[in-house]
Amino acid sequence: MERIHRDLFGPGPTNVPDSVLIALSMPTIGHLDPDFLNLMDEVGERLKYCFQTENPLTFVLSGPGSVGMETSFVNLVEPGDKVVVCINGVFGGRMRDVCERIGADVVSLESDWGTPVSPAALEQTLADHDDVAIVAFVHAETSTGVLSDAKAIAEIAKSHGCLVVADCVTSLAGVELRVDDWMLDVAYSGSQKCLSCVPGLSPISFSHQAVEKVRRRKSKVQSWFCDINLLMSYYESGEKTRAYHHTAPVNSLFAIDEALRLVAEESLDTRWARHSAAAQHLYTKLEAAGLEMVVDPQFRLPPLTLVRIPDGVDDAAVRGTLLNDRDIELGGGLGKFAGKAWRIGLMGQNATIERADFIADALVEMINQCRG
Ligand code: PLP
Repeated sequence: MERIHRDLFGPGPTNVPDSVLIALSMPTIGHLDPDFLNLMDEVGERLKYCFQTENPLTFVLSGPGSVGMETSFVNLVEPGDKVVVCINGVFGGRMRDVCERIGADVVSLESDWGTPVSPAALEQTLADHDDVAIVAFVHAETSTGVLSDAKAIAEIAKSHGCLVVADCVTSLAGVELRVDDWMLDVAYSGSQKCLSCVPGLSPISFSHQAVEKVRRRKSKVQSWFCDINLLMSYYESGEKTRAYHHTAPVNSLFAIDEALRLVAEESLDTRWARHSAAAQHLYTKLEAAGLEMVVDPQFRLPPLTLVRIPDGVDDAAVRGTLLNDRDIELGGGLGKFAGKAWRIGLMGQNATIERADFIADALVEMINQCRG
């Protein structure tokens, strides 16, 4: 295949720094090579910083963010468990689907698209159902560009004795996230968003309480591949001999180790502030050009912005011409926002004022061109 360069301003993947691509192309070594096992330990340590957790079971799953979602629920949920799934977009809906397939008794708590999960509505739902085992929500809804208040949601869930599962696919390393302080029992993410790494990996962290629930299960975890009891024998460091579970994507782990090193070098605080500043700049520029943001300012997710498609502008023509003529990828709307909004990602390497200028200028120019 011919070498293609794109500027990636969609919902992920985002552009990947050269040093991460160089790490990816290092010679492959065995997945049980002692040097590789040491690297996995290093990745786990770096990931703990990124998630802001001391959870020993913090590692990188071999598979995309969806494997993180599947692994969280298939381990934690036993058939018949009552799970409150907070839904304010596509990915909350996917969580419900995953839980239903496992045989959970799902209580859906729906919020309007473009608004966050309501802590008050969660409080009411948990008051109405006294036997809920798990509360699940999406911290950063990539389909709507909305950030929910993970701390408030978890506080309420914990006060009702529930375990908390948080989808942090588009929040990890892009917005404030504190797994331990906020009492999140399972948090999972994806490599291709604010970490600015290649796609196909899912960082995940399990609290002691979550691991305890898995250990107390009456039934076997339905998925062999995602069963953390089996995965632990491969990922957990310490005195024990590490056992083969599956052939890890060794080179991708080289890449994420470098991506995580870059996060630590920059520091989380600086990285969160950089994502926020880039997004503020984007809003200002687009609004100055007469474009309208979909989400109210207080609920916006800095790494991903939804912009309303102006009347009379052909969505497909704008995105198609940007891609074909300018090598720029812009995200289309998803679910209820399909054809109504664009999704602009400023994630990882692309979360800078310069890159915000670049995509805002290109979009405004293309809108004018497609209006004829
Ligand atoms: N959850 C959220 C919030 C996402 O944005 C995505 C992907 O965009 C996923 C889950 C699924 O991740 P993946 O596509 O890497 O499987």
